[in-house]
Amino acid sequence: MLPSPTPIAQPLRKRDPALRSYPFPYKAWLTISSDPDNTLIGDWEQLHALIWKELGLPFADSLFIRSYNEILPDQVDLHRYPQILDAHPHDTIHTWGDFMFAGARAFHRPDAEAHAAILLDRGFVPRVWVDHSMFPGNLMHRHQYGGIPAFKDLSGHSYPNPLYSLDIIHRSGVRYIWDGAVTNVLGQDRPQSLWAEHRERAGSFTKAQKNILLHRFGAAFGLGAGFRAQFIGNDACRALRFPDGTALYVFPRYGEPHLADIHGMGELLSAEKLDLLTQRGGTTIIYTHLGKRRPDAMKDAQHIPPHTQTALRDLARRFSEGEIMLSSISRMLDYLILRDHITIDREQRTINFNADGIAFESIGANELSGHAFSISGLGSEGSQYRVVGTHGPLQPTVEAHYGEHFTLRFA
Ligand SMILES: [Zn+2]
Repeated sequence: MLPSPTPIAQPLRKRDPALRSYPFPYKAWLTISSDPDNTLIGDWEQLHALIWKELGLPFADSLFIRSYNEILPDQVDLHRYPQILDAHPHDTIHTWGDFMFAGARAFHRPDAEAHAAILLDRGFVPRVWVDHSMFPGNLMHRHQYGGIPAFKDLSGHSYPNPLYSLDIIHRSGVRYIWDGAVTNVLGQDRPQSLWAEHRERAGSFTKAQKNILLHRFGAAFGLGAGFRAQFIGNDACRALRFPDGTALYVFPRYGEPHLADIHGMGELLSAEKLDLLTQRGGTTIIYTHLGKRRPDAMKDAQHIPPHTQTALRDLARRFSEGEIMLSSISRMLDYLILRDHITIDREQRTINFNADGIAFESIGANELSGHAFSISGLGSEGSQYRVVGTHGPLQPTVEAHYGEHFTLRFA
C-alpha cells in the first residue's frame, strides 16, 4: 500500500470568541476555484471582460503552464498565451500543465523543474495547487504519486519516484491544495452537527437516517469505516503532512460535477443559494470550469449565458453592499488561518498574531497586508489594546463601529 498524508494536530488553531467570523460588515465569504480545462481564448476574453474588467470582482484565476493535451489542442495555456498571467490576478496552478492525453509526451520530474523555472521567471508565486483529471503527478485526487518520493517493492528494493514533485510544488510557494473532494454542503467554517451534515449530504431524509446510524454504530459491526472517514467536519481547510514530510492545508470545493461549467455557475450562484449562505454565515469555494460550456451551447456567440451574467452581477452587488466578501482562494484561506491563530491577552491588553508554521512562518506587516479583523466584546478599551506580530508591535488602523465593535485594518 502507498503511504498517505496524515492529519496534523493544531492545538493553537482556535478562534477567540471576541473575533467576528469575517471582517465587518460581511456575513459570509465566497471564492471561486475554476479549472482552466477546455478554455478557448475567445471565451477567455469574454470572461476577462465581464468578471475582471466590467464587474471588477476580486477573484484570482488558475492556469496551465503548458498544455500537451492532444484532444484539446486549442486549450488556453501560459505557453501560447503569455499575456493571460498579468491580465488579471492568478493564484492557482492546475498541476504542472496539462499532461493528460499527451501522446508520447509523458510527465516526469524534470518537467516540474522546468515549469517551476518558468513561474520564477514570470514572478508568479502560486499559493494554490489544484489536481487535474487523472494526472499521475496529482497529490490527492485519484493519484497521490506526486507526493511520494520513492517506492519500495515487495522484496525491499527502493526506487526513486519519477512522478514526485511535492518538494518543487512547495518551493514554488504552494501552501493550499484541493483535497480531491466536492462537497454539497453550502458554507464551511461554521459548526455543523453530524445530523445536519448527513442530512445535507444524503439528499433524502431516509438515506440520512440510515447513514447516521451507519456512522454512529457501524464500527461495532465492522461496517462503514471508509464511510466515516469521509466525514471530516466542516472546516474550510485542514492541515496534512505528506509522506515526504511536507505540511500543507487541503480544502474541499463546493458544487456538483454536472454544474461545474459556465452554465452551472449561474445555478451555484443563484439568489436562493446566496441568501442561504448569507443566512448561515460561512465560507464557500465554488468548484467550476469558467471556460467550459454545456455541450448544446458550443455554437453560441456568447460564452457566458444570460442567467450566469445575472448571477455574477447580483454577486457583485452583494459584495459592494457588504453582504458577501469575495476574494481569491489564497486570500480567504490566509485570512482564516491568521484569524484562528490570534490570541487575546485580556490582562496584558494585547492582541497577538501567531504563526501557524505551515502557511506562515512569521507574521508582520507583509503577511497582514490588505487583511482586516473585526473584534468585539473586549469592553470599551478593546480598541486600545496593543497589536503584536511574531517580530514585535504592529500598526493597524483602528476603525470604530457602533458600541464596542472595531476593526483592525492592515494597509
Ligand atoms: Zn482539470
